[in-house]
Amino acid sequence: MSQPVSHPAVSHPALSATDPELAALVAAEERLQSETLRLIPSENYVSQAVLEASGTVLQNKYSEGYPGRRYYEGQQNIDQVETLAVERAKALFGVEHANVQPYSGSPANLAVYLAFAEPGDTVMGMALPMGGHLTHGWGVSATGRWFRGVQYGVRHDTGLIDFDEVRELALKERPKIIFCGGTALPRTIDFAAFAEIAREAGAVLVADVAHIAGLIAGGAHPSPAPYADVISTTTHKTLRGPRGAMLMSREQHAKAIDKAVFPGLQGGPHNQTTAAIAVALREAAQPSFRDYARSVVANAQALAEQLLARGFDLVSGGTDNHLILMDLTPKDVPGKVAAKALDRAGIVVNYNTVPYDPRKPFDPSGIRIGTPSLTSRGLGTEHMAAVADWIDRGVGAARTGDEDALAAIRDEVAELMAAFPAPGLPTE
Ligand SMILES: *Cc1c(COP(=O)(O)O)cnc(C)c1O
Repeated sequence: MSQPVSHPAVSHPALSATDPELAALVAAEERLQSETLRLIPSENYVSQAVLEASGTVLQNKYSEGYPGRRYYEGQQNIDQVETLAVERAKALFGVEHANVQPYSGSPANLAVYLAFAEPGDTVMGMALPMGGHLTHGWGVSATGRWFRGVQYGVRHDTGLIDFDEVRELALKERPKIIFCGGTALPRTIDFAAFAEIAREAGAVLVADVAHIAGLIAGGAHPSPAPYADVISTTTHKTLRGPRGAMLMSREQHAKAIDKAVFPGLQGGPHNQTTAAIAVALREAAQPSFRDYARSVVANAQALAEQLLARGFDLVSGGTDNHLILMDLTPKDVPGKVAAKALDRAGIVVNYNTVPYDPRKPFDPSGIRIGTPSLTSRGLGTEHMAAVADWIDRGVGAARTGDEDALAAIRDEVAELMAAFPAPGLPTE
């Protein structure tokens, strides 16, 4: 077994003194994030600067409203913090308006419904099992219960969106809102094609770029800014900021969006998060972030090549972005069994449905992996053969129940990861 990494006894001195039980859990999580190969495509490592900003006294302040128009006094600093975040978002994404207050991606999307639709209206998004998000009108979500969700998918033969189907559905159903984007889409989103269809159907087009916002900011994925009426994004995935979200648009929709976020849906903004978003946006505007975004994609494509060479079945045959979705049916291992075995091998992934999955959502055929986190640690394309090898051996060991093989992989993973310290984590 691997030696436990030694950590400074008191990396959080006040927390350790007040609540040793909780401090021990944080230390254990630091160790876990340090020693494992984290491949969940929606996760990342934020910088020490982002961590520090999100742990500030800004959190003590109530500031319902917007800069210059608050319902509480004492906003001399908070107004400037939020204005910085807003201006940086506008500059980075090339948009006329930005709202940085949504608590997370799901409430951001709910605010979009509030701004542009009435309960019972028809909305359209990609089906969840095809790679869409719950909040794009899927049945179990409030958005699917309070609105009439109609869903498009990908083609069975190509794994790609069929724009003839999307157009046909949009013209037949006349949705108020069309969502594009999702959580398990390995290919470039054609915002122009969606915009054309939304225009024909008279719908508001929302580009939900939660997963790929960092790639867009870094120039490694086309921007929806010229095409979408609204851009919705989380800030904590490839954008590498705190857990939060933003809604962006042209000036035309600014009022509707702001009113929907507050007072429509939320109360006071989380100012410590707003501050950390501002820091992340500043980081994302640096030339080094362009290198980061390009490397995320290069790593994903190199990893896809290596997996294909080992007989893995990748949905759509590969990737254009940070994410790979694989169908493990040919490997004769269910996604959940593989994900749990890989976790024991120090490789953290999630099990996921694949398009037209014959299995149940809680026990699907696939796993979903991505390269944002490993790229933040400095791994490059030269490491992807090793990563693919571990996944291949791990999936094989999952099939045969070989726990020794999983333990051996875990040691090898920990050894490589020790050579690539993660941002924001204590070092030995
Ligand atoms: C992650 C994600 C969300 C939701 O974000 P949360 O912060 O988890 O609520 C919404 N849409 C898409 C496409 C996502 O990937």
